[in-house]
Amino acid sequence: MKINKHYTELSGNYLFAEIARKVQAFKAENPQADVISLGIGDVTQPLCPVVVEALHKAADEMAVAATFRGYGPERGYDFLRNAIVENDYRSRGIDIDADEVFVSDGAKSDTGNFQELLAEDCVVAVTDPVYPVYVDSNVMAGRRIVKLPCTAENGFVPELPAEHVDVIYLCYPNNPTGTTLTKEQLRKWVDYALQSGAIIFYDAAYEAFIQSEDVPHSIYEIPGAKECAVEFHSYSKTAGFTGIRCGYTIVPKGVKSEGVKSEKYDLAGTVSLNALWSRRQSTKFNGTSYLSQRAAEAIYTPEGKQQIRATIDYYMQNARLMREALTDIGFTVYGGTDAPYLWVKVPGLTPVGEGSSWGFFDWMLQNAHVVCTPGAGFGPSGEGYVRLTAFGTHENTEKAIRRITNRL
Ligand SMILES: *Cc1c(COP(=O)(O)O)cnc(C)c1O
Repeated sequence: MKINKHYTELSGNYLFAEIARKVQAFKAENPQADVISLGIGDVTQPLCPVVVEALHKAADEMAVAATFRGYGPERGYDFLRNAIVENDYRSRGIDIDADEVFVSDGAKSDTGNFQELLAEDCVVAVTDPVYPVYVDSNVMAGRRIVKLPCTAENGFVPELPAEHVDVIYLCYPNNPTGTTLTKEQLRKWVDYALQSGAIIFYDAAYEAFIQSEDVPHSIYEIPGAKECAVEFHSYSKTAGFTGIRCGYTIVPKGVKSEGVKSEKYDLAGTVSLNALWSRRQSTKFNGTSYLSQRAAEAIYTPEGKQQIRATIDYYMQNARLMREALTDIGFTVYGGTDAPYLWVKVPGLTPVGEGSSWGFFDWMLQNAHVVCTPGAGFGPSGEGYVRLTAFGTHENTEKAIRRITNRL
């Protein structure tokens, strides 16, 4: 066979591999050093008690013929889809139908796979810096990508594209910058999509971390979004499900695309993305495990809500501590108020750094034994920044900040 040539256009999965290589080399040379990672985007706190209880109960059901479950419904079990509609939408005054909810094994799969519905010649816009999945999945399919720079100069708010684009990926609260869009700022994008016929793929993976009043939790808080936006959710950061695997995608029936004429499977005229995604999922996906879905359902109980809130508060306390301490010692810090990420401007004063994100990464590792993520790994506009995550323990976060402070 010949391989898909577009894979040669990928920029290489070097970021986390290169970080791991550098950390490994440092540890080999400094076996005594206690290296703290504020780099990776994985959570550290265990699952909350209601989730563990739900997992045990579901496992017990699987052990008895009368309650055993095999393949589940493709779009997810009704108990979870109804809980999502009720708690994540109706409670906010948003009318989403259970048929518009597709339970998934996480937002990475769905944000990566959804582009399969697009024609090859669609032009895709992404913010820069960006969560690499949106870019790489479209590069693999051979699509052209337009980058929308998000910098300190524009307040990390992307400007509308100068040329026509068919799809726009937005992620707010943002990974990696930790910044947000207000309702007013998001409305501009919804209006643009409605006027230009573009569709917005909205990644709301960090919605649960929002603290500010005017930051929307869902794009459907904006009028007209149900005609132009698909929304991705994940329980990974919300409830520590990075290892359990569960999320969901909202594909409103009002989101329509230009079809194609074919004798075999006629998709002429306007096509509902809901129907098309359903067709795709029923072919390639056999559902999220019953256990994961019961676990996700449990976080919508009153105790569940309280318990996941406590963990999010725990992480946001880390974010606040880092933000305040780094600001106090003269760093310029963005994010960290509505997201578990801080986007830190690299100071010019580091001996090796000269303002570069890899230089500062090296300085932090050598001097503070702290691992961060170089912003350049998230796109050209990430150069000059590093990302710190609030997903560590209090103890390690405090220790890391103390070391950075002492070394300056
Ligand atoms: C962590 C993350 C996700 C969630 O991925 P899962 O597959 O649900 O674990 C989605 N989008 C962004 C931007 C993320 O950082």
